[in-house]
Amino acid sequence: MQVKIACKLTIKVVYSLTNFKEQSIYVMKYAIISDIHGNLEALESVLTEIEKHYVDSLLCLGDVVGYGPNPNECVEVIRDKAEVILAGNHDYAPLGKLDLSYFNPWARNAIEWTADQLSESSKEFLLSLPLKMNLNGFTIVHSTPLNPEQWNYIITIGDAVRNFHEFEGRVCFVGHSHVPMIVSVKNEDYRAIRENPLQIDPDRRYIINVGSVGQPRDLIPRAAYAIYDTTNGTYELFRVDYDIAETQSKIIQSGLPEFLAERLELGQ
Ligand code: ZN
Repeated sequence: MQVKIACKLTIKVVYSLTNFKEQSIYVMKYAIISDIHGNLEALESVLTEIEKHYVDSLLCLGDVVGYGPNPNECVEVIRDKAEVILAGNHDYAPLGKLDLSYFNPWARNAIEWTADQLSESSKEFLLSLPLKMNLNGFTIVHSTPLNPEQWNYIITIGDAVRNFHEFEGRVCFVGHSHVPMIVSVKNEDYRAIRENPLQIDPDRRYIINVGSVGQPRDLIPRAAYAIYDTTNGTYELFRVDYDIAETQSKIIQSGLPEFLAERLELGQ
């Protein structure tokens, strides 16, 4: 349901809610970010850029912590700025909610380090985060709309095909792989889309990976964030420089695996 007020304000009803009270909200332009991973420098750079877009709402698709040296600081900043924050596997893992054998040795080491660092308040907050949510004609989830608690990835068109029946609305935004990607479908015609910015076709449905703020893995080290404007149906992914050397030096000083510092400048 939409009611237009003037030219820029749209009232939309949030439906099929999880852990979110049903109410009318006044949003139309969203910033969507994911996979911050305790990287405060990347998060702050992204938020500075997002401010210039005058968005109505900031959505975070999870993995606020894990790998990076500032988990509590990232939790504080994001809970202050974002309207909706979902849980990622790295948010649940340091709380003892996931089997650590699922993770590679670097991730496991970082999860144990993060668990030691997290304040009670951060832990309580991360524990309260939902896995999936439906908003204004689109869905957000960290991993996959199908069984999000299994933490599977959408990397190929085949992965996407299995998930198109599992969300409401025209678009599902995901994170988790740290690699931006768009797959679209109309009448069983599935396509990988490279257009950026993208004009959303009202006859197609989309699964869109918004990339990673704090640990990009598409060989581009710059932090990623996305803007989705429901008033004109546009989606655009942006990249922004941040002080990688500062984050790397904090990683090394904190005793986290050196590989986690190296990979930031490689974007992998
Ligand atoms: Zn992640």
